[in-house]
Amino acid sequence: MFSAVFWSVPRALRQSAVNPLMRGLMVFRGRGSALQATVAKPERERNGRDESGFTRFELAFVLGALAGLGLVIIPALADANLRSSRVICANNLRQISIAFQRWAHDHEDQLVFEVPVDAGGTRQHALASNVWLHFSWVSNELSSPQWLVCPNDDGRPARDFGGSPEGGYLHPDFANRATSYFLSHAFTPMPAAIIAGDRNVLADGPVGCSRFLSASRALVRASSSPRWTNGLHETSGNLLRADGAVEQFSSRGFSRAVFDAHADNGNLHFITPR
Ligand SMILES: [Zn+2]
Ligand SMILES: [Zn+2]
Repeated sequence: MFSAVFWSVPRALRQSAVNPLMRGLMVFRGRGSALQATVAKPERERNGRDESGFTRFELAFVLGALAGLGLVIIPALADANLRSSRVICANNLRQISIAFQRWAHDHEDQLVFEVPVDAGGTRQHALASNVWLHFSWVSNELSSPQWLVCPNDDGRPARDFGGSPEGGYLHPDFANRATSYFLSHAFTPMPAAIIAGDRNVLADGPVGCSRFLSASRALVRASSSPRWTNGLHETSGNLLRADGAVEQFSSRGFSRAVFDAHADNGNLHFITPR
């Protein structure tokens, strides 16, 4: 405030402040007014005010405030980034759900891995333990392979559903490497059944499977209940249910969701791309 008042005073008047006579007059006439600031200025100069008008204390204060602001803003940006990647991932799973449902619409409302090969699906196909097979089966409905990669995963999306080494989803350089989501089947059809989700699920072990030939198993309340490993989304992940709902779960919530959705024995059969 003081410095703002001072520098708003015309230069000639400021220079006149060095005149002792004038200084006394101004102190006498201007006590408590803006003019008082003009007479105090030379003393402050001796006390360390530099050419820029900042004292060292003011400079330190400003730098400290900026540093403090950084401590607030940087974690907030990181948090926003984390949230946006979860949102993109959830949208990917919604697109996958729409593709599965479109395909099911022409196949008596059954998911592609529930329909036997001779009826046009992938159930017990010779390659059925590969996640990429099922996604490639619904490629017409999916339109783009970009939906198959979580933004936090290290894989790069394929360019199209062809077999080209330059970006074809069917090429081994892409396929499972260009896929971030596991697939799972319900033992009995129910809307809350989990059918897909972020791939980093902890498995109990391999198991023979009537849809995927062989799958990984996650059993609730076994030695290792279903949970996320060192996650794509830290300690949580996204799950897609048969009715199209996409929800984000912590490891504990994941375990609960498997128990609720596969309530017969809390048993999840799933195949992961990696
Ligand atoms: Zn994800
Ligand atoms: Zn199974």
